Amino acid sequence: MAKKASDTLSVASASMQKITFPTLLQFLDISPDAMIVINQAGTIVRTNSHALSLFGYTSLELWGQPLNVLLPERFRVAHAIHREHYFSAPLTRSMGVGLQLFGQRKNGTEFPVDISLQPILIDNVLHGISTVYDVTRYKALVEAEQYLNNELEHLNTLQSNFISVIDHEFRTALTSIEGFSGLLRDEDHSSADVKDYANDIYTDALRLHAMITNLLDLEQMQQGKMQLNLQWIDINALLTRITQSMGLTTIRHTFHLHLDQIHPQIEGDENKLIQVITNLLSNAVKYSPEGGDIVITTSVEGAFIHLSIQDHGIGIAHTIIKDIFMPYHHIDAKATRHIQGTGLGLPIVKQIVEMHQGHIWVESVPGQGSLFHLLFPLRLRSTTL
Ligand code: ADP
Repeated sequence: MAKKASDTLSVASASMQKITFPTLLQFLDISPDAMIVINQAGTIVRTNSHALSLFGYTSLELWGQPLNVLLPERFRVAHAIHREHYFSAPLTRSMGVGLQLFGQRKNGTEFPVDISLQPILIDNVLHGISTVYDVTRYKALVEAEQYLNNELEHLNTLQSNFISVIDHEFRTALTSIEGFSGLLRDEDHSSADVKDYANDIYTDALRLHAMITNLLDLEQMQQGKMQLNLQWIDINALLTRITQSMGLTTIRHTFHLHLDQIHPQIEGDENKLIQVITNLLSNAVKYSPEGGDIVITTSVEGAFIHLSIQDHGIGIAHTIIKDIFMPYHHIDAKATRHIQGTGLGLPIVKQIVEMHQGHIWVESVPGQGSLFHLLFPLRLRSTTL
């Protein structure tokens, strides 16, 4: 036979704390925690002073009020149902285990709480005492710990990416230098071969040099140690110059310029902007192994210049697109495995763009190509140019 609520209550009440009203008041006074006594209708019968100051009320304002006034609106209906269940089978327990509970102060602000509920017979009438713990500080600590753990995890990822870049890229260049210089040392060669080998060694040494420079540059920028050497720059003229010289390095790609007729001047560091554009254009070339058109567009949009670089190469998978501006993310996918890279180019580009108070983002369709967007303010905030 199913148990009736009154049976449950009589079983529970046998082991329940019994107290008189005057003793209850003494007990509330000495408790170090915020305590609220309610009757079965959910009316606040008494609180101690800790509860009053926690919720910002005086006793006159709070005693006799429904408990609802201490709850954010969205919890009130569920709380009434919960209270009914509780009084039909009253046991000491934590409330809402696994739930995020909130209290509401008189001024309407909310704060996270843990609540423990205890049934009690006051002068033989069933009541409930809830002990309320303000867990704001605890939650802040948990969140701070979580944030630190995420940062640590991020740093660990960066560190292992960094190690694999050093391992792969530096080792490849060094192995090639070792190989060719070994050949020169151990065997006699025609002067044409010697020149070839020396050329390979030179190219690898340049690559190593560039990688070390990039590593140090990124480090310096991230620490805010790199300064901009500002001047007014005709961005169209800069793009024309760079594409002309890059056009000489590839026969499979064609650069098309669609430049704003206004000839916008922007305030920037010429060498750093050259680094940004060269990097994006060489990526456009590098990641379009079949060749194709590379379209560069500028347009003035209000106080900004919008620069875009579109290629028709391998594109970027959606799963990794969010990672490509993070350091050392040379994407080791099937399509890019044979393409050399350290994953340092785009993080440096992003840092430089942000140093110019600009913004960079990318759209891409795998197999169809990528479109990098850059937005620069024409004039920087707080400079004296
Ligand atoms: P790297 O080219 O040295 O690996 P980057 O930081 O320049 O480093 O680029 C990071 C990653 O972003 C590359 O490994 C590549 O997967 C992807 N990527 C960058 N530019 C393009 C592009 N134009 N098309 C396709 N993928 C690109």
